[in-house]
Amino acid sequence: MGRSSKDKRDIYYRLAKEEGWRARSAFKLLQLDHQFNLFSGVNRAVDLCAAPGSWSQALSRKLRGGEEEVKIVAVDLQAMAPLPGVTQIQGDITKVSTAQEIIRHFEGQPANLVVCDGAPDVTGLHDVDEYIQAQLLLAALNITTHILTPGGTFVAKIFRGKDVTLLYSQLKIFFSSVTCAKPRSSRNSSIESFVVCQNYSPPEGYIPNMSNPLLDQSYAPGMTSVISADVDFNQLEGSNRVIVPFLACGDLSAFDSDRTYPLQLDAGKEYEYIPPTQPPIRPPYEQACHFRKHNLLSREDAPPISPIHSQEEREP
Ligand code: SAM
Repeated sequence: MGRSSKDKRDIYYRLAKEEGWRARSAFKLLQLDHQFNLFSGVNRAVDLCAAPGSWSQALSRKLRGGEEEVKIVAVDLQAMAPLPGVTQIQGDITKVSTAQEIIRHFEGQPANLVVCDGAPDVTGLHDVDEYIQAQLLLAALNITTHILTPGGTFVAKIFRGKDVTLLYSQLKIFFSSVTCAKPRSSRNSSIESFVVCQNYSPPEGYIPNMSNPLLDQSYAPGMTSVISADVDFNQLEGSNRVIVPFLACGDLSAFDSDRTYPLQLDAGKEYEYIPPTQPPIRPPYEQACHFRKHNLLSREDAPPISPIHSQEEREP
């Protein structure tokens, strides 16, 4: 089979296929674990925004196999191929019904680790993308406050945009340690980073609330808020202003995701194409590709959007 240009471009994409990970993102979580020892003592974990599932795979591989019973719950808008020991929920984490379903799994037995690699479909409009990303993070944090055991850890993707100080302040209310980390496998060219929030310690008397009080009300036009709409959140002052440490994870021995490496790292070995471990089973781009192939995108009389074909229908 021919060379894949992506293989050539990205060392972590290639490594993920060689090691059997569903996505290159697996290395981000593994490198964060290497730095922060995230998995130590963890036996109940939640992976929010999990598809295609490489973080769940990492959790499944790293947490299972010991004596202790392990529970891993993975949630995503998209369907995901099954993984050993992982319970899947298909749903939107910003919806109360999904949040309640997740919470039910941990009633009486809270989780000790919640991870969220959630990202919206990027529009290219930075303010919009950052806003939606922040909403995902707040939804994840709200779910976390319902299910995380005191002392537990929350890890989430953030876009380090102009309102990031407000996010840090909100996270610091719930965790004694908040660090912003950039694993080597996350490209420098991307504004993505990860907040690693350790030692969950909610304020005394805090009662988790599904109405999502963490959302910044002043974004909504016409809303009266305790915070004035004129406040520039990055200008928070005094004890309201939180500076969190920024850590470039790992030493220089890990591959640099922005560098181009030779296709075959093992000198003397023939290049061999490796297919993806688990392609997305119902990707949202599938219908757009179908429309474009059949020249239906620009036609006014194009058929209404139909349900996306199931895996069985698509595969020969
Ligand atoms: N960590 C995953 C892995 O390693 O395979 C990759 C996650 S991918 C970068 C981001 C995921 O966020 C997508 O699968 C997308 O469907 C999901 N997502 C975005 N918004 C969501 C929402 N509101 N509720 C649930 N999942 C969401």
